[in-house]
Amino acid sequence: SKELGGNNYSFFSSSMNRLLEERVNLERLLHTALDRDEFVLYYQPQVDLRTGHIFGAEALIRWMHPQRGLIPPDQFIPIAEETGLIVPIGIWALRTACIQAKKWNREHRHPVHVAVNLSVKQFISNDIVASVDRAIRETGLNPNLLELELTESIILENTESVIATMNQLKKLGVRISIDDFGTGYSSLAYLKDFPIDSLKIDRSFVHNLSKNDKNTAIISAVITLARKLGLKSVAEGLETPEQLHFYRMEGCDLAQGYYFSRPLPEDQMNDLLDHSVWH
Ligand code: C2E
Ligand code: CA
Ligand code: CA
Ligand code: CA
Repeated sequence: SKELGGNNYSFFSSSMNRLLEERVNLERLLHTALDRDEFVLYYQPQVDLRTGHIFGAEALIRWMHPQRGLIPPDQFIPIAEETGLIVPIGIWALRTACIQAKKWNREHRHPVHVAVNLSVKQFISNDIVASVDRAIRETGLNPNLLELELTESIILENTESVIATMNQLKKLGVRISIDDFGTGYSSLAYLKDFPIDSLKIDRSFVHNLSKNDKNTAIISAVITLARKLGLKSVAEGLETPEQLHFYRMEGCDLAQGYYFSRPLPEDQMNDLLDHSVWH
């Protein structure tokens, strides 16, 4: 540290500069990415645990950068949120997912649902209801087949206006789910006030699942809670047959995870829809 001493500040400041440059650069790149249509949606199947059929898919965004390749959402969604670019990016994702789901439902006899992630910033932007309405009308997708995923952090926002927006969305006919359930806030009170349809149990609970683990008690309680509130329960991050068995025995409705499939590009998801049933 003696050797570093005098250089600490300049080292810190130059790395800060680099970070800032990266940020400004990234913001500019995100703009261009939208213009050049560089975003893609991958789809991860959601499996009905009672029948083994595909219930639908969650749309997960990726950035297909011409030089850097496929960039995962964790590396650009936070900056998109800070800069407000999440609004146009989110509208693009919503529309693209609806177009895709409309296609699937033309080609398949079973209904295929699609779930789209909404960030809080996007949800509280004043035209989310109009955006969803437009996406549904312009694509002709049955709104019952569209689910909007929100995290519990929505609870920190103005409750009255969140409930009002949710009610307007429900009037359009879409479904609302709480993503990463159990990781956000201790209060469960919002469950009775918010017009939601399903709880997605965060994958941190199923990680290292074993008998007598406290996680099994939590998962089991959440599934019961969901059932008693008339909500669907969705397991996230299933990777092993043991985890699948556990969720099935507990009566969980739907599940997604690497055990069934990683998120897939459109054409591979099409193949899965044509062929796959899990028993
Ligand atoms: P999320 O909504 O909780 O999505 C689930 C994440 O877990 C996905 O990561 C998925 O690939 C991953 N995953 C699925 N099954 C498994 C499994 O069995 N094991 C493990 N280890 N991971 C699994 P991904 O695609 O990198 O997305 C990360 C996050 O980025 C999402 O978390 C979501 O919060 C955000 N995101 C993705 N697409 C969008 C979008 O269109 N809009 C917004 N606002 N956020 C998005
Ligand atoms: Ca999600
Ligand atoms: Ca999640
Ligand atoms: Ca998450």
